[in-house]
Amino acid sequence: MRVGFGYDIHKLVPGRNLVLGGVKIPSPLGEDGHSDGDVLIHALIDALLGSTGLGDIGTLFPDSDQKYKDISSRTLLEQVMVHLAGNHWHVINADTTVVLEEPKISPFSGEMRRNLAQDLDLPVEDVSVKAKTKEGMDAAGAGKAIEAYAIVLLENNIPKWDTIVSLLWKQTGKSELPSVSKIARKKRDPFRVLVSTMISLRTKDEVTLTASTRLFQLADSPGTMANLSEQEIARAIYPAGFYKTKAKHILKVCRILLTEYAGSVPGNLEALLTLPGVGRKTANLVLNLGFGMDAICVDTHVHRISNRTGWIETKNPEETEYALMEILPRNYWIKINELLVTFGQTICSPQSPFCSKCLIEDFCEKRGVTRSR
Ligand code: SF4
Repeated sequence: MRVGFGYDIHKLVPGRNLVLGGVKIPSPLGEDGHSDGDVLIHALIDALLGSTGLGDIGTLFPDSDQKYKDISSRTLLEQVMVHLAGNHWHVINADTTVVLEEPKISPFSGEMRRNLAQDLDLPVEDVSVKAKTKEGMDAAGAGKAIEAYAIVLLENNIPKWDTIVSLLWKQTGKSELPSVSKIARKKRDPFRVLVSTMISLRTKDEVTLTASTRLFQLADSPGTMANLSEQEIARAIYPAGFYKTKAKHILKVCRILLTEYAGSVPGNLEALLTLPGVGRKTANLVLNLGFGMDAICVDTHVHRISNRTGWIETKNPEETEYALMEILPRNYWIKINELLVTFGQTICSPQSPFCSKCLIEDFCEKRGVTRSR
């Protein structure tokens, strides 16, 4: 958590609007300034940037830049909030004070609070706007200037990966491994990983393991498997989902591996993605478990949990893969799939997750969770 303190002062001059917290207040004098001069929001921005070390208002919005001429300070605050969010900061509360001789601003303070609460993405109770006078002292006291002070509390929610991974490991370490991991543990063979991952798509884990084992008893290399008929492969992998289509793809893949890759599985994403029935999830798992290469395999569990926790915000597994590559340290790229698949199967289930037992609850925003156990 960080505290930020902000201050600003503007001259009061005729011919300008008096704008505070986005509210235009009837007054013969208004704030002088390049933007709309909203001294309250400027103090708030000063506090937000000061606490996070992300620059200052003059650097971000220089008054030499004409695009900021007479701009609403709420627009500047909005841009600052985007900047903060991109660095995983969010505001917990804000306390502000305006120093002004006249007019009285109390009739407008409710509207100011609502505006600021909306801009800071906070409930209105977590924002306060107070007013003081300088009792005739100095420029503000003489009615020639207006001042504002702001204090903010912010929290950074960058995931703490070492802690999260060790908690996930603690929670899932004794659970059954996903079937493709079990197959890969027996023997690191890219071909077995490729075929068992193809079988695993839209198929229950226990079915994947028995279906893969049956098929590998008949043939366990591209050369021997290419000698099987489509029907023999389909019979071996039944009742895996879409077993007939998968049998066709597996046979085609074996033939391509024999003719184009000398009977080996290619160890790069682009080549794997050209194989029939092979998408990014399968290709990345082959790179992970078959070749021990750094890649993030995103299946339904990894996509759901990464978004549910609020670590990322993405629409599909491919976006999730790229977003996780941005925030997850490389040494966890291989491990994260196995951990989250097991965690998703045992704790963070799709419909009603076991939040009461969850060891990473402190790192989870529970986005979209309406029912939990
Ligand atoms: S707190 Fe609940 S929703 Fe969040 S990761 Fe844990 S089980 Fe899943």
